[in-house]
Amino acid sequence: MSVLNRLKSVPSFTFPVVAAILLLLLPQLGLSDANQRQLLLIGFLTLLVSGLNLSLGYAGELALGQPAIYATGAYVAAYMGAHGSTDILLQILAAIGAALVVGLLTGIPGLRLGSWSLAMTSFFLVLLIPDITNILINVTGGPSGAVGIAPPTLFGALLTNYGFYLVCMLSVIIWLAFMRNLVTSRHGIALRVMRQSPVLASSLGISVFRTKLVAYALGAVPAGVAGALFANLDSYVSPGSFSFALAISILAASILGGATSVYGAVLGAVIMQLGPSVSTSFQQDALIFYGILLIAGGVLLSDGLTGLITRAWKRYVVRPDHVTRSTTHSPQDFHFEPMAGATLSVKGVSKSFGGNVALRDVSLTAERGQVTALIGPNGSGKTTLLNMICGFYPIDAGTIDLDGVRLDNRRPHEIAGRGLARTFQTPVIPTGITVSQAVLAGRYSPERVSIASAALRLPKFWKVRAHDEERVAQTLAIVGLSELADEEAVSLPLGTRRLLEIARALVSNPSVILLDEAASGLDEGEVARLAVLIGRVRDAGGTVILVEHNFRLVLSLADTIHVLAQGEIIASGAPADIEVNPRVLKEYLGVKDVGAAAAAIEAETTGHAS
Ligand code: ADP
Ligand code: MG
Repeated sequence: MSVLNRLKSVPSFTFPVVAAILLLLLPQLGLSDANQRQLLLIGFLTLLVSGLNLSLGYAGELALGQPAIYATGAYVAAYMGAHGSTDILLQILAAIGAALVVGLLTGIPGLRLGSWSLAMTSFFLVLLIPDITNILINVTGGPSGAVGIAPPTLFGALLTNYGFYLVCMLSVIIWLAFMRNLVTSRHGIALRVMRQSPVLASSLGISVFRTKLVAYALGAVPAGVAGALFANLDSYVSPGSFSFALAISILAASILGGATSVYGAVLGAVIMQLGPSVSTSFQQDALIFYGILLIAGGVLLSDGLTGLITRAWKRYVVRPDHVTRSTTHSPQDFHFEPMAGATLSVKGVSKSFGGNVALRDVSLTAERGQVTALIGPNGSGKTTLLNMICGFYPIDAGTIDLDGVRLDNRRPHEIAGRGLARTFQTPVIPTGITVSQAVLAGRYSPERVSIASAALRLPKFWKVRAHDEERVAQTLAIVGLSELADEEAVSLPLGTRRLLEIARALVSNPSVILLDEAASGLDEGEVARLAVLIGRVRDAGGTVILVEHNFRLVLSLADTIHVLAQGEIIASGAPADIEVNPRVLKEYLGVKDVGAAAAAIEAETTGHAS
């Protein structure tokens, strides 16, 4: 254990850096040519698998077209190499360009039509490779392959064997570093959120289509690079290298190594490259072997071998020192920054689902610095109204605007981008992320960082990351979850997940916050905390829309209460009016003796408030 404990204090980037340096030096240390070749092939496969991890593991799109992109890169480089453009960097750049074009062309229709279509179109692309190479026989050499590729050069000098090895391995290392930076940034969290809940992603201001497309297109980049390198390995390219079996082996490597992992791609590629060489009868049985590994990885390992290793690492190395701090602060203790509330107006909104009228001519206004409550029995349309405001469904009639700007014709991520943040009746918390990462997801929209900034760790990235960390820690403290910051978010009890959702909404410093049944599932202490918190948000100038069943909580917090019944607003007014409104008492609370009930509620409320 002491060795493990010492390992823990080593910075996390040490192992990859040492491994990378060793890898680059191996040929100098007497690695045989045959083994050098094996390593290069592992490197190419790593690039292919890593790209798939981005689109499949992180973005959740089953994109099977890696061999086609690989082929594109290879033929582009082959063509250049045979026509006097031997500089390997130029070839790599051209291959990346071509890979992006093919990735986008095949990705857009596939993604538009849904994920199965992407699997089909990308897979179809692989099946088409022999036909396309045949059609382009003048360029590709058809079935017999492209020949006459001149040896690669770099800045005018012929590359030695070792030079070529260095270029290949550096390409792999640079890509893995890029990928690592990307997935450990907020974009990585955004991808996980989007994969698990597109609804949540768009309510956080993440454009689902755009993000999926970017992940898919970026996943094509390493495949293009691998293709360009591969063409120069033997100065020969033929369609046989880009087969169906390759597509399956990439998929198996991804799943076996761990699809939501950077280094899983390396592990998967090593296994898929070296595994077959153990068996002599492999040529005939390749697909069976890949299939077995695919099934074994899929059935036995939820997140691949790297998942297994990470869990063991956390359990035996990181855990023992884990300390829990407890916060006893109340939201009252925190300084709330002023919030730029906005006026949300809903005018004459109607919505039916088939024949079922969920909302009928609903109008209400939520003012800044006020709590506007929405109450009503189950099925009365409260959640539907929130969904309309957030743009999840088109409305049948009416308008919704924010400070006079129409919202009802915009898409959910655009509406979120205008400062609307919400929680869900059933909390939506992605798996595989910690509490603080779940809250961090809420920071996507208010302060943006480009993928390039994140992957290249530009100054902008560090600046925003510092803000992110500060805001997340502050917000966790406000909702009282600081001590749980590093716990897995999804495994928390319901009440805590609700508070977490509120933190995620608050961290974006929204102008309007919509809370759907915020207090259900909370214990007494948590409800009290929530009440103080909502009060502070209101006092800070935020616009709060509160859907809630706890009548007492609503009476104590709301400035205005709207009562919905069967999709219609049956009463609106101040708490004092609503609690004695006979129709509300009868229809909503189901009370027969109206006078007695009103008196009881009043007694309880005043008793509670004092
Ligand atoms: P509440 O939140 O007040 O309990 P909801 O807004 O969830 O009520 O539901 C109002 C009505 O709209 C219900 O009859 C419900 O079945 C219907 N409804 C809500 N969302 C959908 C949907 N996506 N498709 C069909 N019907 C829906
Ligand atoms: Mg509801």
